Amino acid sequence: MLTSICGINWGDEGKGRMVDLLSEKFDVVCRYQGGNNAGHTVVNERGKFILNLLPSGILRENVVNVLGAGMVIDIRHLAEEVSRLRGQGIKITPENLKISDRAVITMPYHVLLDCLEEERLADKKFGSTRRGIAPVYADKYMKKAFRMGELLGTELLYKRVKEIVEWKNLTVAGGYRHEPVSADEMIDYFKQYGEPLKEYICDTGVYLNEANKAGKNIMFEAQLGALRDIDFGIYPYTSSSSTIAAYAPIGAGVPNLKLDKSIGIMKAYSSCVGEGPFTAEYFGEAAEKLRAAGGEYGAATGRPRRVGPFDVVASRYGIRCQGADEIALTKLDVLSAYEEIEICTAYELDGKRLTEFPFPDVLDRCKPVLEKVKGWHCDISKCKTVNDLPKEAIAYIRLIEKLCECKITYVSVGAEREAYVKFH
Ligand code: GDP
Ligand code: MG
Repeated sequence: MLTSICGINWGDEGKGRMVDLLSEKFDVVCRYQGGNNAGHTVVNERGKFILNLLPSGILRENVVNVLGAGMVIDIRHLAEEVSRLRGQGIKITPENLKISDRAVITMPYHVLLDCLEEERLADKKFGSTRRGIAPVYADKYMKKAFRMGELLGTELLYKRVKEIVEWKNLTVAGGYRHEPVSADEMIDYFKQYGEPLKEYICDTGVYLNEANKAGKNIMFEAQLGALRDIDFGIYPYTSSSSTIAAYAPIGAGVPNLKLDKSIGIMKAYSSCVGEGPFTAEYFGEAAEKLRAAGGEYGAATGRPRRVGPFDVVASRYGIRCQGADEIALTKLDVLSAYEEIEICTAYELDGKRLTEFPFPDVLDRCKPVLEKVKGWHCDISKCKTVNDLPKEAIAYIRLIEKLCECKITYVSVGAEREAYVKFH
């Protein structure tokens, strides 16, 4: 069975916690896109963990974790993350971590260029996580990137470093007038952070095909959500990779395999990190209240997240892009703070009511159409079954199911592994 766990909205929907919960039934968990701009928070009986590059399955002893071909890997960050998790008692060996030889390496100069460009843009900045993601994906498509497999044959790699650094300095020193990148320093960088990773690098396609043949359950863990996808998201305020479930087998290294199931992770309200249009956004006190109730501060960056009510228009679009067969609705407990809950059911553009998510350029002119429903206004974080939920909470979930035309199978009511209700 191949299952994808993907984000329906702007990211930070709680994918990490759902992967942690659902991975009990899986043998393999793969990340297939993005890099250490991801911030997946998992709270379980072993503690609180923040994962940037490692799949959330790393927290389960019997799960094999794969960093797939579609990823960009900052090898220094990976070394730090591995040692941080080992310090928290997590076992990480070539037996339970496999890194695709096709995955691309994020270099220190990609991080530098990300920062230089955000500074150049000043008040027009994109709100990048400044972890080099856009520059490294750009180099991948320019065919000027390094891949993990190159670390296995370093003579050729060190020769290429000189050529690529010379080209890169046309931008770093020539364009941005910054101190040039040193090829020798990059070689030292590969030696320090790349060499120790050699034993983890393999053709993940071979591994995954064999696992599939042996009848193993394979999960693909996405980073970010549909609205941040490079093709289908709110471009240019997107990430630089494909966050879409259909890309998962490709990004993991098994383009020959087809997904059996796509599970979309969707938040009971909206949150968004970074710049760009966010139609149903709350401001002022309304935003403060929801942000505080939901603890909406970025796991990777600590930045306060922008927040708003549940957005039916954007979520329906996200569900369609992800081909979601079912939904896990997360953070429902956060809405316990409200006597009345707002939902954005449509957008208004030039006096017309929109229910389909539009081409992103008009989003700035769209106004949210808000409707109110009765809240439950009591603690639901200890609820274990549907019968434990107040009737208003059940009505809210059913309304979202109806408006989004998608079955909700799990509802999470707290950050801890067991704080959820099986809904269907
Ligand atoms: P991801 O990037 O999609 O994995 O999500 P993040 O980890 O960035 O953000 C989700 C945040 O919400 C984390 O701090 C989680 O611990 C927390 N969280 C997840 N599920 C729930 C829930 O049901 N209720 C509450 N209150 N917090 C949750
Ligand atoms: Mg996150």
